[in-house]
Amino acid sequence: MKDSLETLNFSNSFAELPDSFYSLVSPTPFDTNAQLIHFNTAAGKLIDLDYDNQHAQFIADIFSGKSTLKKSKPLAMLYAGHQFGHYVPQLGDGRAILLGEATSSKGDRWEIQLKGSGVTPYSRNGDGRAVLRSSIREYLCSEAMFGLGIPTTRALCLVGSKDEVYREQVETATMLTRLAQSHVRFGSFEIFYYRNQHDDIRILADYIIEHHYPDLATLDNPYLALLVAVTQRTARLIAQWQAVGFSHGVMNSDNMSILGLTLDYGPFGFMETYNPDYICNHSDHAGRYAFNKQPEIGLFNLSCLAQALLPLMEVEAAKAVLATYQSQFLSHYHFLMANKLGFSETSDEIQVLQNQLMVMMQNNQADYTNTFRALCRVSQNTTSNEKSFLSLLNNSDEAAKWIQSYKKLLGNNTQSDTERQDFMLGINPKYILRNYMAQVAIDKATNDDFSEIDDLIKILHNPFAEHASHNHYTGPAPAWADNLQVSCSS
Ligand code: AMP
Ligand code: MG
Repeated sequence: MKDSLETLNFSNSFAELPDSFYSLVSPTPFDTNAQLIHFNTAAGKLIDLDYDNQHAQFIADIFSGKSTLKKSKPLAMLYAGHQFGHYVPQLGDGRAILLGEATSSKGDRWEIQLKGSGVTPYSRNGDGRAVLRSSIREYLCSEAMFGLGIPTTRALCLVGSKDEVYREQVETATMLTRLAQSHVRFGSFEIFYYRNQHDDIRILADYIIEHHYPDLATLDNPYLALLVAVTQRTARLIAQWQAVGFSHGVMNSDNMSILGLTLDYGPFGFMETYNPDYICNHSDHAGRYAFNKQPEIGLFNLSCLAQALLPLMEVEAAKAVLATYQSQFLSHYHFLMANKLGFSETSDEIQVLQNQLMVMMQNNQADYTNTFRALCRVSQNTTSNEKSFLSLLNNSDEAAKWIQSYKKLLGNNTQSDTERQDFMLGINPKYILRNYMAQVAIDKATNDDFSEIDDLIKILHNPFAEHASHNHYTGPAPAWADNLQVSCSS
């Protein structure tokens, strides 16, 4: 591991952009000893790092800024963004530092970013740190999303310390190492639009196209094609969030990835009891980022991006791209929901069934994930496996009738019952990252026991498998978790 870190094929293409895009700044190591809390071997493989625990201290020192990776050129990226609907003219990495990009033997480039790595010129009044609690949440959720097949930044490792940081109470500072093919956000473009630095918009668009959308470079209008591609990816991403019951919590345009990744995990939440109005972020009093608002907020954010790209395209052309968003979102969403019900494509009848099921879930306060999982077991010819599905819906007459209509529709399927069940079990996860699961890992880690993180990563990487020893994590939140709240504090 030590060798592979020392020989990492490392560069920093972002640092070759003009200096208006970033500030060169080094991470500030912890005052106390850096301790490796967890190393994600699966993410390590992306950049050819094979973990061995002999070198835990070396890894902790590298990924907390105490030691430096050769050829790294640390910088904080500049961006702005619309936060809760209002333009904030300057944000930027206030507590994250991009070390550079590792190129794997396969030729994939991964940016390596430390989060919680100390103050930068963009820290405003912040301390540049991240606390253990929020770092564990981001760590687990990035990997949960990966396990669910949803585009996301990845988490490489977590390094803890005894450095004190002040939030609502005294907590300890932690650094998360994040990997992404790019951390560029919609807000990275917005800042140059509002500053009237139109050349920089073009330079950034060219950079993104060259590195991440190379097929667009030869098209007639690559910039418009970029907007098309980002719109497609965003529509698909948000459809995936909705299908799995994920709420991002802070869908500000500075948290929207130009690659359509789930980015910047803060007060996110996986919906447990089905409630379309679910608000995961305790600080979001108006519910701007409620679960069922996410699709329209996606369009709002894309409009912010389109506005910023206007110097590169005709306004009517940009509007025409945005006008495709809703139908793209809906077609992905209906496709994914039809899949969750065991069908390979959607139809009006399936959508009627789907809506009826959602209403029943809401009325019966059913667990979203468990209801779909239980549905996987229902078989066309017997009633023997229907019990748990029906009991989640309080054995209502309505649910019994619904099953009959559902089975009737299944009759049109060409797949056998077992094939359909297997297909559904591979789509409807048994495990999601319930808030209380993260809290168990956090509480243990606060007492220097990091075992739960490792356990959870294993099941979240493969959330469709049974993992019978972890059945307790499929249940509704235990009573102690009733009042768990997550907010922007991190
Ligand atoms: P977030 O809500 O984490 O996406 O952060 C919004 C903005 O605030 C970003 O520019 C962050 O870099 C910055 N920020 C958040 N927390 C801190 C902190 N503790 N110190 C400095 N900047 C921060
Ligand atoms: Mg952010």
